[in-house]
Amino acid sequence: MKFYSTNNINNQVSFREAVIKGLPDDNGLFMPESIPVLDANFFATLPQKSIAEIAFEVAKPFVKEDINDEKLQTIVEETLNFPLPVVNVHDNINVLELFHGPTLAFKDVGARFLARCLSHFSNNSEEKVTVLVATSGDTGSAVANGFLGVPNVDVVILYPKGKVSHLQEQQLTTLGQNITALEVNGTFDDCQRMVKSAFLDKPLNKAMKLTSANSINIARLLPQSFYYYWAMAQLSGADDVVFSVPSGNYGNITAGLLAKAMGLPIKGFVASSNVNDIVPKYLATGNFEPKPSKQTISNAMDVGDPSNFPRMTALHKNSWETICQEITGYSFTDGETKEAMKMVFDKYGYVLDPHGAVGYLGLQAYLDKNGGTGVFLETAHPGKFADTVEEVIGSVEIPERLGAYLNKEKNSIEMSNQFEGLKDYLTKHLR
Ligand SMILES: *Cc1c(COP(=O)(O)O)cnc(C)c1O
Repeated sequence: MKFYSTNNINNQVSFREAVIKGLPDDNGLFMPESIPVLDANFFATLPQKSIAEIAFEVAKPFVKEDINDEKLQTIVEETLNFPLPVVNVHDNINVLELFHGPTLAFKDVGARFLARCLSHFSNNSEEKVTVLVATSGDTGSAVANGFLGVPNVDVVILYPKGKVSHLQEQQLTTLGQNITALEVNGTFDDCQRMVKSAFLDKPLNKAMKLTSANSINIARLLPQSFYYYWAMAQLSGADDVVFSVPSGNYGNITAGLLAKAMGLPIKGFVASSNVNDIVPKYLATGNFEPKPSKQTISNAMDVGDPSNFPRMTALHKNSWETICQEITGYSFTDGETKEAMKMVFDKYGYVLDPHGAVGYLGLQAYLDKNGGTGVFLETAHPGKFADTVEEVIGSVEIPERLGAYLNKEKNSIEMSNQFEGLKDYLTKHLR
């Protein structure tokens, strides 16, 4: 399988190269040259399969030229070594809990797969790889944990100062070893732009081997599709399943769209956003208009220029009409999000985090109109957003492995939101 750039279909590379490069030189995004459709027997036996068995079959057509079966087996087993259960919340509303991994957010799945692919590919080379990652909260720690202590890999995390939760910041800044946290005086969009500039800077890329661990890396996108199959396996029989995905950069929902394109019989998707409603607006009007991001309580979704948008459109032949048949968009305010958290806790005893609450709201709105079997993705453990969750429902349990970060010393390097500062840091410190 080759991967092409969304900016130039003739710019094609292997899986290995796509993973190592992260981004094509032409500023597009890597996409598989064709979408393999899995055979009917695979889908018929889905409920009998383990998640690792599913993941192996799903990933194989994309990676088989670069990763042999035995290695792929190991990678998917190590990636998916925590539960990803579907739980009924009430009536036809179910939740796919993606927060049982080491950093308690769904990004563990993509980050663990990517880290294993990258270290597999860099195994035979002595050259050091620097992984650059912009984070709105959860990506950084998931990626950093995936790479902690891996030889020949440095991880540099950029996060917006004062715009991530206290726990998230502790998770980013206390790891040490081969992990550096850069505290940027700006927004997440600034961080994302700085990372992009680094990849497009020719002298910098000559001087060091940079790679991206954001959801723009194809090795993060692919594994995020595994749990859509796994959720369908757990809901065996339902033929009217709708997934509501709380979205920021739209990597998670794009992975679901990919699963559907590969034959998984999903009825539809709900793009649930906070007031950063670029995609719901696009779905309503056909116009894609990035805007500066606004800060909300679902901070990991505070994205004003969703990076996976070109992939969403590429999967649908760039047709707005076709995308609208697959996805319904809704956006919600912080007030509505808090109300949902309170109502779901009071009435059903289920604790939502602010991101999951946005997913819940989108699903509820969709089902009210269309019916069906609903699943929303709970993308982070409520304990990660203890301040908000406590304010709304009184108290929240903080899992032990999260609490452990609170007592460690924060270590970060503050910098402006200008690319030059980042470039300067990288050239001086990480050669
Ligand atoms: C990253 C993140 C999201 C948004 O996911 P995208 O793939 O960027 O759309 C939602 N919720 C949480 C908790 C996240 O960390």
